Amino acid sequence: MAEIDIGAPALSSAAQAFVDRGKYQLFLDGQWVDAQSSGTFDTRDPATGAVIGQIARAAAEDVDLAVSAARRAFDSGPWRTMTPMERSGILNKIADLMESNIDELAELETLDQGKPLYVGRWAEIPGAIAQFRYFAGLALAIEGRTIPTSINYQPEGKEIFAYTLKEPVGVVGAIVPWNSPLVLTVMKLAPALAAGCTIVLKPAEDTSLTAVRLCELIAEAGLPDGVINLVTGLGSEAGARLAEHPQVNKIAFTGSTNTGRAILEASKGNLKRVTLELGGKSPVIVMADADIAAAAAGSANAIFFNGGQVCVAGSRLYAHRSVFDKVIEGIVDTAGKMAMGHGLNPATQLGPLVSRKHAATVAGYIEDGIKAGATRLCGGETLGPNQSFVQPTVLTDVKADMNVVCEEIFGPVLVASPFDDVDEVLAAANDSSFGLAAGIWTEGLSNATRLANRLQAGTVWINSHLMFDAALPIGGTKQSGFGRDSGQAALANYLELKTVCAVV
Ligand code: NAD
Repeated sequence: MAEIDIGAPALSSAAQAFVDRGKYQLFLDGQWVDAQSSGTFDTRDPATGAVIGQIARAAAEDVDLAVSAARRAFDSGPWRTMTPMERSGILNKIADLMESNIDELAELETLDQGKPLYVGRWAEIPGAIAQFRYFAGLALAIEGRTIPTSINYQPEGKEIFAYTLKEPVGVVGAIVPWNSPLVLTVMKLAPALAAGCTIVLKPAEDTSLTAVRLCELIAEAGLPDGVINLVTGLGSEAGARLAEHPQVNKIAFTGSTNTGRAILEASKGNLKRVTLELGGKSPVIVMADADIAAAAAGSANAIFFNGGQVCVAGSRLYAHRSVFDKVIEGIVDTAGKMAMGHGLNPATQLGPLVSRKHAATVAGYIEDGIKAGATRLCGGETLGPNQSFVQPTVLTDVKADMNVVCEEIFGPVLVASPFDDVDEVLAAANDSSFGLAAGIWTEGLSNATRLANRLQAGTVWINSHLMFDAALPIGGTKQSGFGRDSGQAALANYLELKTVCAVV
Protein backbone atom coordinates (compact mmCIF):
# COMPACT_ATOMS: atom_id res chain seq x y z
CA MET A 1 0.00 0.00 0.00
CA ALA A 2 1.46 3.34 -1.04
CA GLU A 3 2.08 5.79 1.82
CA ILE A 4 -0.21 8.77 2.00
CA ASP A 5 0.88 12.06 0.54
CA ILE A 6 0.07 14.58 3.24
CA GLY A 7 1.23 17.60 1.28
CA ALA A 8 -1.16 20.53 1.42
CA PRO A 9 -1.38 24.06 0.06
CA ALA A 10 -0.48 26.98 2.33
CA LEU A 11 -3.17 28.38 4.60
CA SER A 12 -4.89 31.62 3.63
CA SER A 13 -3.35 34.70 5.23
CA ALA A 14 -6.24 35.00 7.72
CA ALA A 15 -5.97 31.38 8.89
CA GLN A 16 -2.17 31.62 8.99
CA ALA A 17 -2.36 34.77 11.15
CA PHE A 18 -4.65 32.93 13.56
CA VAL A 19 -2.29 29.94 13.71
CA ASP A 20 0.75 32.23 14.14
CA ARG A 21 -0.66 33.43 17.46
CA GLY A 22 0.24 29.99 18.83
CA LYS A 23 -1.60 30.53 22.11
CA TYR A 24 -5.34 30.71 22.74
CA GLN A 25 -7.05 31.97 25.87
CA LEU A 26 -10.34 31.55 27.70
CA PHE A 27 -13.16 34.04 27.07
CA LEU A 28 -14.68 35.12 30.39
CA ASP A 29 -17.09 38.01 30.84
CA GLY A 30 -16.04 39.64 27.57
CA GLN A 31 -12.27 39.35 28.23
CA TRP A 32 -9.63 36.99 26.80
CA VAL A 33 -7.66 35.63 29.75
CA ASP A 34 -5.26 32.82 30.68
CA ALA A 35 -6.40 30.02 32.95
CA GLN A 36 -5.88 30.93 36.63
CA SER A 37 -3.20 28.24 36.83
CA SER A 38 -1.67 29.43 33.51
CA GLY A 39 -2.05 25.80 32.42
CA THR A 40 -2.26 24.91 28.72
CA PHE A 41 -2.47 21.83 26.53
CA ASP A 42 -1.38 21.19 22.94
CA THR A 43 -3.67 21.03 19.97
CA ARG A 44 -2.32 19.06 17.00
CA ASP A 45 -2.75 18.61 13.27
CA PRO A 46 -4.00 15.02 13.21
CA ALA A 47 -2.55 14.36 9.73
CA THR A 48 1.04 15.01 10.83
CA GLY A 49 0.91 15.01 14.63
CA ALA A 50 2.56 18.47 14.60
CA VAL A 51 1.59 20.86 17.40
CA ILE A 52 -0.49 23.78 16.10
CA GLY A 53 -0.60 25.73 19.36
CA GLN A 54 -1.33 25.87 23.07
CA ILE A 55 -4.87 26.02 24.37
CA ALA A 56 -5.71 27.43 27.80
CA ARG A 57 -6.59 24.58 30.16
CA ALA A 58 -9.56 25.64 32.27
CA ALA A 59 -9.89 24.03 35.70
CA ALA A 60 -12.81 24.18 38.15
CA GLU A 61 -11.86 27.71 39.29
CA ASP A 62 -12.02 29.04 35.70
CA VAL A 63 -15.36 27.34 35.12
CA ASP A 64 -16.64 28.97 38.32
CA LEU A 65 -15.62 32.41 36.97
CA ALA A 66 -17.30 31.65 33.64
CA VAL A 67 -20.52 30.52 35.32
CA SER A 68 -20.54 33.62 37.59
CA ALA A 69 -20.20 35.84 34.51
CA ALA A 70 -23.00 34.00 32.72
CA ARG A 71 -25.16 34.12 35.86
CA ARG A 72 -24.67 37.91 36.21
CA ALA A 73 -25.35 38.43 32.52
CA PHE A 74 -28.54 36.40 32.79
CA ASP A 75 -29.83 37.87 36.05
CA SER A 76 -29.03 41.53 35.45
CA GLY A 77 -27.53 41.95 31.99
CA PRO A 78 -29.41 43.38 29.04
CA TRP A 79 -29.60 40.17 26.96
CA ARG A 80 -32.87 38.64 28.10
CA THR A 81 -34.62 42.02 28.38
CA MET A 82 -33.63 43.16 24.88
CA THR A 83 -36.43 43.21 22.36
CA PRO A 84 -36.71 40.06 20.27
CA MET A 85 -35.84 42.19 17.22
CA GLU A 86 -32.57 43.31 18.82
CA ARG A 87 -31.60 39.74 19.78
CA SER A 88 -32.53 38.50 16.33
CA GLY A 89 -30.42 41.25 14.76
CA ILE A 90 -27.33 40.14 16.70
CA LEU A 91 -27.84 36.50 15.67
CA ASN A 92 -28.05 37.57 12.03
CA LYS A 93 -24.91 39.68 12.50
CA ILE A 94 -23.06 36.60 13.81
CA ALA A 95 -24.20 34.72 10.69
CA ASP A 96 -22.95 37.59 8.49
CA LEU A 97 -19.56 37.59 10.20
CA MET A 98 -19.24 33.81 9.87
CA GLU A 99 -20.06 34.14 6.19
CA SER A 100 -17.38 36.81 5.67
CA ASN A 101 -14.82 34.58 7.41
CA ILE A 102 -15.99 31.22 6.08
CA ASP A 103 -12.75 30.25 4.34
CA GLU A 104 -10.70 30.92 7.47
CA LEU A 105 -13.16 28.98 9.65
CA ALA A 106 -13.13 26.02 7.24
CA GLU A 107 -9.33 25.92 7.11
CA LEU A 108 -8.98 26.10 10.90
CA GLU A 109 -11.56 23.33 11.32
CA THR A 110 -9.68 21.10 8.87
CA LEU A 111 -6.28 21.83 10.39
CA ASP A 112 -7.48 21.01 13.90
CA GLN A 113 -9.92 18.16 13.17
CA GLY A 114 -8.53 16.66 9.96
CA LYS A 115 -11.76 16.66 7.93
CA PRO A 116 -11.55 17.26 4.15
CA LEU A 117 -11.86 20.97 3.47
CA TYR A 118 -15.04 20.56 1.40
CA VAL A 119 -16.87 19.04 4.39
CA GLY A 120 -16.46 22.20 6.45
CA ARG A 121 -16.50 24.73 3.63
CA TRP A 122 -19.56 23.46 1.76
CA ALA A 123 -21.57 21.46 4.29
CA GLU A 124 -20.94 22.08 7.97
CA ILE A 125 -20.10 25.77 8.17
CA PRO A 126 -22.89 26.85 5.80
CA GLY A 127 -25.08 24.64 8.01
CA ALA A 128 -23.88 26.50 11.11
CA ILE A 129 -24.58 29.86 9.49
CA ALA A 130 -28.07 28.65 8.57
CA GLN A 131 -28.66 27.73 12.23
CA PHE A 132 -28.01 31.32 13.32
CA ARG A 133 -30.32 32.66 10.61
CA TYR A 134 -33.07 30.13 11.40
CA PHE A 135 -32.99 30.84 15.14
CA ALA A 136 -32.76 34.59 14.47
CA GLY A 137 -36.18 34.11 12.88
CA LEU A 138 -37.56 31.99 15.70
CA ALA A 139 -36.36 34.57 18.27
CA LEU A 140 -39.12 36.81 16.89
CA ALA A 141 -41.81 34.17 17.39
CA ILE A 142 -41.49 33.03 21.00
CA GLU A 143 -45.10 33.21 22.14
CA GLY A 144 -47.29 32.01 24.97
CA ARG A 145 -51.01 31.28 24.67
CA THR A 146 -54.17 32.56 26.28
CA ILE A 147 -56.10 29.67 27.77
CA PRO A 148 -59.83 29.56 28.48
CA THR A 149 -60.43 27.82 31.81
CA SER A 150 -63.41 26.16 33.49
CA ILE A 151 -62.66 27.64 36.92
CA ASN A 152 -65.93 28.76 38.50
CA TYR A 153 -64.97 29.77 42.04
CA GLN A 154 -63.70 33.29 41.36
CA PRO A 155 -65.47 36.08 43.33
CA GLU A 156 -68.81 37.28 42.03
CA GLY A 157 -68.43 39.70 39.11
CA LYS A 158 -64.79 38.72 38.41
CA GLU A 159 -63.32 36.84 35.47
CA ILE A 160 -60.35 34.55 34.96
CA PHE A 161 -57.59 35.60 32.58
CA ALA A 162 -55.04 32.80 32.12
CA TYR A 163 -52.05 32.73 29.83
CA THR A 164 -48.62 31.17 29.41
CA LEU A 165 -45.21 32.80 29.00
CA LYS A 166 -42.09 31.22 27.57
CA GLU A 167 -39.01 32.31 29.46
CA PRO A 168 -35.31 31.52 28.97
CA VAL A 169 -34.15 28.60 31.09
CA GLY A 170 -31.10 30.52 32.41
CA VAL A 171 -27.40 29.67 32.28
CA VAL A 172 -26.65 26.92 29.77
CA GLY A 173 -23.55 24.73 29.84
CA ALA A 174 -22.86 23.59 26.26
CA ILE A 175 -20.49 20.62 26.03
CA VAL A 176 -19.61 19.47 22.52
CA PRO A 177 -17.53 16.79 20.77
CA TRP A 178 -14.74 16.91 18.18
CA ASN A 179 -16.22 15.32 15.08
CA SER A 180 -17.98 18.40 13.68
CA PRO A 181 -16.95 21.00 16.24
CA LEU A 182 -18.26 24.25 14.81
CA VAL A 183 -21.68 23.18 13.58
CA LEU A 184 -22.41 21.09 16.68
CA THR A 185 -21.46 24.08 18.86
CA VAL A 186 -23.72 26.40 16.92
CA MET A 187 -26.59 23.90 17.17
CA LYS A 188 -26.52 24.64 20.93
CA LEU A 189 -25.61 28.32 20.84
CA ALA A 190 -28.12 29.58 18.28
CA PRO A 191 -31.33 28.33 19.99
CA ALA A 192 -29.97 29.17 23.47
CA LEU A 193 -29.23 32.75 22.42
CA ALA A 194 -32.55 33.07 20.59
CA ALA A 195 -34.31 32.08 23.82
CA GLY A 196 -32.39 34.72 25.82
CA CYS A 197 -30.13 32.32 27.74
CA THR A 198 -26.49 32.92 28.62
CA ILE A 199 -23.84 30.29 27.92
CA VAL A 200 -20.65 28.64 29.09
CA LEU A 201 -19.19 26.68 26.17
CA LYS A 202 -16.82 23.71 26.64
CA PRO A 203 -15.42 22.44 23.33
CA ALA A 204 -13.71 19.05 22.98
CA GLU A 205 -10.03 19.04 23.91
CA ASP A 206 -8.92 17.92 20.42
CA THR A 207 -10.72 20.75 18.60
CA SER A 208 -10.77 24.15 20.31
CA LEU A 209 -9.63 26.43 17.48
CA THR A 210 -12.91 27.25 15.76
CA ALA A 211 -14.60 27.73 19.15
CA VAL A 212 -12.04 30.48 19.90
CA ARG A 213 -12.56 32.10 16.49
CA LEU A 214 -16.36 31.83 16.80
CA CYS A 215 -16.32 33.58 20.19
CA GLU A 216 -14.28 36.41 18.66
CA LEU A 217 -16.86 36.80 15.89
CA ILE A 218 -19.72 36.64 18.40
CA ALA A 219 -18.11 39.40 20.49
CA GLU A 220 -17.62 41.46 17.32
CA ALA A 221 -21.32 41.06 16.55
CA GLY A 222 -22.14 42.95 19.75
CA LEU A 223 -23.23 40.27 22.17
CA PRO A 224 -23.10 41.81 25.68
CA ASP A 225 -20.26 40.72 28.01
CA GLY A 226 -20.88 37.49 29.90
CA VAL A 227 -23.55 36.17 27.51
CA ILE A 228 -21.07 33.73 25.94
CA ASN A 229 -18.08 32.40 27.88
CA LEU A 230 -15.52 29.90 26.61
CA VAL A 231 -13.76 27.35 28.82
CA THR A 232 -11.40 25.23 26.74
CA GLY A 233 -10.07 22.25 28.66
CA LEU A 234 -10.43 18.61 29.51
CA GLY A 235 -13.70 16.76 29.98
CA SER A 236 -12.63 15.38 33.33
CA GLU A 237 -11.80 18.89 34.61
CA ALA A 238 -13.70 21.74 32.92
CA GLY A 239 -16.51 19.53 31.58
CA ALA A 240 -17.12 17.75 34.86
CA ARG A 241 -17.25 21.02 36.84
CA LEU A 242 -19.69 22.57 34.39
CA ALA A 243 -21.98 19.53 34.55
CA GLU A 244 -22.17 19.62 38.34
CA HIS A 245 -22.15 23.42 38.85
CA PRO A 246 -25.08 24.49 41.05
CA GLN A 247 -25.53 27.82 39.20
CA VAL A 248 -25.97 26.19 35.79
CA ASN A 249 -29.61 25.63 34.86
CA LYS A 250 -29.20 23.43 31.83
CA ILE A 251 -26.61 21.21 30.16
CA ALA A 252 -26.85 20.81 26.40
CA PHE A 253 -24.54 17.90 25.60
CA THR A 254 -23.41 16.17 22.43
CA GLY A 255 -20.96 13.30 22.76
CA SER A 256 -20.65 9.66 23.64
CA THR A 257 -23.26 7.64 25.50
CA ASN A 258 -20.88 6.93 28.40
CA THR A 259 -20.12 10.61 28.94
CA GLY A 260 -23.85 11.33 28.65
CA ARG A 261 -24.44 9.00 31.60
CA ALA A 262 -21.72 10.77 33.63
CA ILE A 263 -23.29 14.14 32.83
CA LEU A 264 -26.72 13.00 33.91
CA GLU A 265 -25.25 11.80 37.20
CA ALA A 266 -23.26 15.02 37.74
CA SER A 267 -26.21 17.27 36.97
CA LYS A 268 -28.61 15.78 39.50
CA GLY A 269 -27.48 18.04 42.40
CA ASN A 270 -29.63 20.97 41.30
CA LEU A 271 -31.86 18.97 38.94
CA LYS A 272 -30.55 20.65 35.81
CA ARG A 273 -32.46 20.41 32.60
CA VAL A 274 -30.37 18.07 30.44
CA THR A 275 -30.50 17.22 26.76
CA LEU A 276 -28.23 14.48 25.45
CA GLU A 277 -27.31 13.96 21.80
CA LEU A 278 -25.36 10.71 21.98
CA GLY A 279 -23.91 7.93 19.90
CA GLY A 280 -25.45 5.76 17.22
CA LYS A 281 -25.10 2.60 15.17
CA SER A 282 -27.50 3.52 12.42
CA PRO A 283 -28.84 0.88 10.02
CA VAL A 284 -29.13 1.40 6.27
CA ILE A 285 -31.63 -0.93 4.58
CA VAL A 286 -31.47 -1.57 0.84
CA MET A 287 -34.64 -3.22 -0.46
CA ALA A 288 -34.72 -5.42 -3.55
CA ASP A 289 -36.59 -2.71 -5.47
CA ALA A 290 -34.03 0.06 -4.76
CA ASP A 291 -32.14 2.04 -7.38
CA ILE A 292 -29.01 -0.02 -6.75
CA ALA A 293 -26.45 2.44 -8.11
CA ALA A 294 -27.90 5.26 -6.00
CA ALA A 295 -28.17 2.99 -2.95
CA ALA A 296 -24.54 1.86 -3.24
CA ALA A 297 -23.26 5.43 -3.69
CA GLY A 298 -25.50 6.73 -0.89
CA SER A 299 -24.52 3.92 1.48
CA ALA A 300 -20.81 4.53 0.82
CA ASN A 301 -21.27 8.24 1.56
CA ALA A 302 -23.32 7.43 4.68
CA ILE A 303 -20.35 5.64 6.27
CA PHE A 304 -17.26 7.26 4.70
CA PHE A 305 -18.26 10.96 4.85
CA ASN A 306 -16.03 12.72 7.41
CA GLY A 307 -14.21 9.41 7.90
CA GLY A 308 -17.30 7.88 9.53
CA GLN A 309 -16.93 10.30 12.45
CA VAL A 310 -20.59 11.23 12.22
CA CYS A 311 -23.10 10.35 14.95
CA VAL A 312 -25.71 9.37 12.34
CA ALA A 313 -23.27 7.50 10.04
CA GLY A 314 -24.91 4.53 8.32
CA SER A 315 -22.60 1.97 9.91
CA ARG A 316 -24.74 -1.20 9.60
CA LEU A 317 -25.83 -2.14 6.08
CA TYR A 318 -28.65 -4.61 5.45
CA ALA A 319 -29.21 -5.33 1.74
CA HIS A 320 -31.77 -7.75 0.33
CA ARG A 321 -30.04 -11.02 -0.62
CA SER A 322 -31.00 -10.57 -4.29
CA VAL A 323 -29.04 -7.29 -4.52
CA PHE A 324 -26.47 -7.72 -1.73
CA ASP A 325 -23.49 -8.55 -3.95
CA LYS A 326 -24.16 -5.65 -6.32
CA VAL A 327 -24.54 -3.11 -3.49
CA ILE A 328 -21.39 -4.33 -1.77
CA GLU A 329 -19.47 -4.26 -5.06
CA GLY A 330 -20.45 -0.61 -5.53
CA ILE A 331 -19.43 0.35 -1.99
CA VAL A 332 -16.09 -1.49 -2.17
CA ASP A 333 -15.40 0.15 -5.54
CA THR A 334 -16.07 3.61 -4.05
CA ALA A 335 -13.88 2.81 -1.03
CA GLY A 336 -10.98 1.81 -3.27
CA LYS A 337 -11.15 5.06 -5.22
CA MET A 338 -11.36 7.50 -2.30
CA ALA A 339 -8.48 9.98 -2.29
CA MET A 340 -6.84 9.98 1.14
CA GLY A 341 -4.66 12.88 2.16
CA HIS A 342 -4.32 16.00 4.25
CA GLY A 343 -7.72 17.61 4.67
CA LEU A 344 -6.39 20.91 3.32
CA ASN A 345 -5.56 19.28 -0.02
CA PRO A 346 -8.63 20.09 -2.18
CA ALA A 347 -8.51 16.60 -3.79
CA THR A 348 -8.87 14.83 -0.44
CA GLN A 349 -12.05 12.83 0.13
CA LEU A 350 -10.94 11.02 3.27
CA GLY A 351 -8.74 12.82 5.79
CA PRO A 352 -7.08 11.51 8.94
CA LEU A 353 -9.22 10.57 11.91
CA VAL A 354 -9.18 13.15 14.68
CA SER A 355 -6.13 11.69 16.44
CA ARG A 356 -3.64 8.85 16.40
CA LYS A 357 -5.37 7.51 19.53
CA HIS A 358 -8.79 7.41 17.88
CA ALA A 359 -7.34 5.75 14.75
CA ALA A 360 -5.85 3.04 17.00
CA THR A 361 -9.27 2.49 18.60
CA VAL A 362 -10.90 2.12 15.17
CA ALA A 363 -8.13 -0.26 14.01
CA GLY A 364 -8.67 -2.28 17.21
CA TYR A 365 -12.34 -2.74 16.31
CA ILE A 366 -11.45 -3.96 12.80
CA GLU A 367 -8.96 -6.45 14.20
CA ASP A 368 -11.48 -7.64 16.78
CA GLY A 369 -14.14 -8.13 14.10
CA ILE A 370 -11.81 -10.19 11.91
CA LYS A 371 -10.75 -12.30 14.89
CA ALA A 372 -14.43 -12.92 15.65
CA GLY A 373 -14.95 -14.30 12.12
CA ALA A 374 -15.82 -11.29 9.93
CA THR A 375 -14.51 -11.17 6.35
CA ARG A 376 -12.68 -7.99 5.34
CA LEU A 377 -13.58 -7.05 1.77
CA CYS A 378 -11.45 -3.92 1.68
CA GLY A 379 -9.47 -1.49 3.82
CA GLY A 380 -8.41 -2.09 7.38
CA GLU A 381 -4.92 -0.56 7.26
CA THR A 382 -3.75 2.35 9.41
CA LEU A 383 -1.52 4.74 7.49
CA GLY A 384 0.27 8.09 7.53
CA PRO A 385 3.19 9.65 9.43
CA ASN A 386 0.99 10.02 12.53
CA GLN A 387 -0.77 6.66 11.98
CA SER A 388 -4.05 8.58 11.97
CA PHE A 389 -5.50 7.52 8.59
CA VAL A 390 -7.72 4.44 8.48
CA GLN A 391 -8.62 3.03 5.07
CA PRO A 392 -12.33 2.75 4.29
CA THR A 393 -13.24 -0.74 5.42
CA VAL A 394 -16.10 -3.14 4.64
CA LEU A 395 -16.71 -6.25 6.77
CA THR A 396 -19.16 -9.04 5.89
CA ASP A 397 -20.02 -12.41 7.51
CA VAL A 398 -20.78 -10.52 10.70
CA LYS A 399 -23.05 -11.71 13.51
CA ALA A 400 -25.42 -9.63 15.61
CA ASP A 401 -23.45 -10.13 18.81
CA MET A 402 -20.04 -9.07 17.47
CA ASN A 403 -18.59 -5.83 18.91
CA VAL A 404 -18.22 -4.42 15.38
CA VAL A 405 -22.01 -4.78 14.96
CA CYS A 406 -23.17 -3.68 18.44
CA GLU A 407 -20.79 -0.83 19.26
CA GLU A 408 -20.26 2.59 17.73
CA ILE A 409 -16.85 2.54 16.01
CA PHE A 410 -16.95 6.18 14.83
CA GLY A 411 -14.66 5.51 11.88
CA PRO A 412 -14.91 4.48 8.20
CA VAL A 413 -15.97 0.91 8.95
CA LEU A 414 -19.12 -0.67 7.50
CA VAL A 415 -20.57 -4.01 8.64
CA ALA A 416 -22.86 -5.57 6.04
CA SER A 417 -25.36 -8.46 6.05
CA PRO A 418 -27.94 -9.81 3.59
CA PHE A 419 -31.61 -10.27 4.55
CA ASP A 420 -34.57 -12.15 3.08
CA ASP A 421 -37.73 -10.41 4.28
CA VAL A 422 -39.00 -7.19 5.81
CA ASP A 423 -39.74 -8.56 9.29
CA GLU A 424 -36.27 -10.04 9.50
CA VAL A 425 -34.55 -6.79 8.54
CA LEU A 426 -36.71 -4.72 10.88
CA ALA A 427 -35.84 -6.99 13.79
CA ALA A 428 -32.13 -6.80 12.92
CA ALA A 429 -32.16 -3.02 12.41
CA ASN A 430 -33.97 -2.43 15.72
CA ASP A 431 -31.74 -4.88 17.61
CA SER A 432 -29.52 -2.12 18.97
CA SER A 433 -29.18 -0.17 22.20
CA PHE A 434 -28.94 2.95 19.99
CA GLY A 435 -31.76 4.66 18.10
CA LEU A 436 -30.36 7.74 16.40
CA ALA A 437 -30.99 7.44 12.66
CA ALA A 438 -31.79 4.97 9.88
CA GLY A 439 -31.77 4.92 6.08
CA ILE A 440 -34.04 3.10 3.64
CA TRP A 441 -33.39 2.66 -0.08
CA THR A 442 -36.47 1.62 -2.05
CA GLU A 443 -38.57 2.74 -5.01
CA GLY A 444 -41.73 1.44 -3.30
CA LEU A 445 -43.94 3.75 -1.27
CA SER A 446 -45.35 0.97 0.86
CA ASN A 447 -41.92 -0.44 1.81
CA ALA A 448 -40.71 3.08 2.59
CA THR A 449 -43.70 3.95 4.76
CA ARG A 450 -43.90 0.65 6.63
CA LEU A 451 -40.20 0.66 7.45
CA ALA A 452 -40.05 4.35 8.37
CA ASN A 453 -42.97 3.89 10.77
CA ARG A 454 -41.46 0.85 12.47
CA LEU A 455 -37.77 1.72 12.69
CA GLN A 456 -36.66 2.81 16.17
CA ALA A 457 -34.79 6.00 15.30
CA GLY A 458 -34.99 9.75 15.82
CA THR A 459 -34.50 10.38 12.09
CA VAL A 460 -35.29 8.18 9.08
CA TRP A 461 -33.93 9.07 5.65
CA ILE A 462 -35.51 7.57 2.54
CA ASN A 463 -33.37 7.29 -0.60
CA SER A 464 -30.82 9.54 1.10
CA HIS A 465 -28.64 9.84 4.18
CA LEU A 466 -27.06 12.77 6.03
CA MET A 467 -29.66 15.32 4.91
CA PHE A 468 -29.52 18.11 7.51
CA ASP A 469 -31.38 21.37 7.79
CA ALA A 470 -31.68 23.96 10.54
CA ALA A 471 -35.46 23.38 10.49
CA LEU A 472 -35.29 19.57 10.83
CA PRO A 473 -35.11 18.26 14.40
CA ILE A 474 -32.35 15.72 15.00
CA GLY A 475 -31.72 13.55 18.04
CA GLY A 476 -32.04 10.12 19.47
CA THR A 477 -34.29 7.49 20.95
CA LYS A 478 -33.13 4.68 23.29
CA GLN A 479 -29.49 5.16 24.39
CA SER A 480 -28.84 7.72 21.65
CA GLY A 481 -30.18 10.29 24.10
CA PHE A 482 -33.11 12.63 24.49
CA GLY A 483 -34.03 16.12 23.35
CA ARG A 484 -33.59 17.45 19.84
CA ASP A 485 -31.18 19.85 18.16
CA SER A 486 -32.38 21.99 15.22
CA GLY A 487 -35.91 23.03 14.41
CA GLN A 488 -38.57 24.39 16.72
CA ALA A 489 -38.05 21.40 19.03
CA ALA A 490 -34.53 22.68 19.83
CA LEU A 491 -35.79 26.10 20.92
CA ALA A 492 -38.12 24.40 23.42
CA ASN A 493 -35.04 22.95 25.19
CA TYR A 494 -34.03 26.45 26.22
CA LEU A 495 -37.44 27.74 27.38
CA GLU A 496 -39.43 27.28 30.57
CA LEU A 497 -43.20 27.49 30.41
CA LYS A 498 -44.82 29.76 33.00
CA THR A 499 -48.57 29.74 33.62
CA VAL A 500 -50.20 32.97 34.80
CA CYS A 501 -53.75 32.76 36.11
CA ALA A 502 -55.34 36.07 37.11
CA VAL A 503 -58.68 36.98 38.65
CA VAL A 504 -59.53 40.29 37.02
P1 NAD B 1 -17.01 12.44 24.47
O1 NAD B 1 -18.24 12.03 25.17
O2 NAD B 1 -15.74 11.77 24.80
O3 NAD B 1 -16.74 14.00 24.67
C1 NAD B 1 -17.70 14.98 24.36
C2 NAD B 1 -17.47 16.20 25.21
O4 NAD B 1 -17.67 15.86 26.58
C3 NAD B 1 -16.04 16.75 25.13
O5 NAD B 1 -16.10 18.16 25.17
C4 NAD B 1 -15.40 16.20 26.38
O6 NAD B 1 -14.32 16.99 26.85
C5 NAD B 1 -16.56 16.27 27.35
N1 NAD B 1 -16.45 15.38 28.51
C6 NAD B 1 -15.78 14.21 28.60
N2 NAD B 1 -15.94 13.69 29.85
C7 NAD B 1 -16.74 14.54 30.53
C8 NAD B 1 -17.28 14.55 31.84
N3 NAD B 1 -17.03 13.58 32.71
N4 NAD B 1 -18.08 15.58 32.21
C9 NAD B 1 -18.36 16.56 31.34
N5 NAD B 1 -17.87 16.62 30.09
C10 NAD B 1 -17.07 15.62 29.69
O7 NAD B 1 -17.38 12.31 22.94
P2 NAD B 1 -16.41 12.52 21.71
O8 NAD B 1 -15.55 11.32 21.62
O9 NAD B 1 -15.81 13.89 21.78
O10 NAD B 1 -17.46 12.57 20.50
C11 NAD B 1 -17.87 11.46 19.83
C12 NAD B 1 -19.23 11.03 20.32
O11 NAD B 1 -20.18 12.07 20.11
C13 NAD B 1 -19.76 9.85 19.53
O12 NAD B 1 -20.33 8.92 20.41
C14 NAD B 1 -20.84 10.46 18.65
O13 NAD B 1 -21.83 9.58 18.24
C15 NAD B 1 -21.36 11.53 19.52
N6 NAD B 1 -22.08 12.53 18.71
C16 NAD B 1 -23.45 12.59 18.80
C17 NAD B 1 -24.16 13.50 18.01
C18 NAD B 1 -25.67 13.58 18.07
O14 NAD B 1 -26.23 14.56 17.61
N7 NAD B 1 -26.35 12.61 18.63
C19 NAD B 1 -23.47 14.35 17.15
C20 NAD B 1 -22.09 14.24 17.07
C21 NAD B 1 -21.40 13.34 17.88
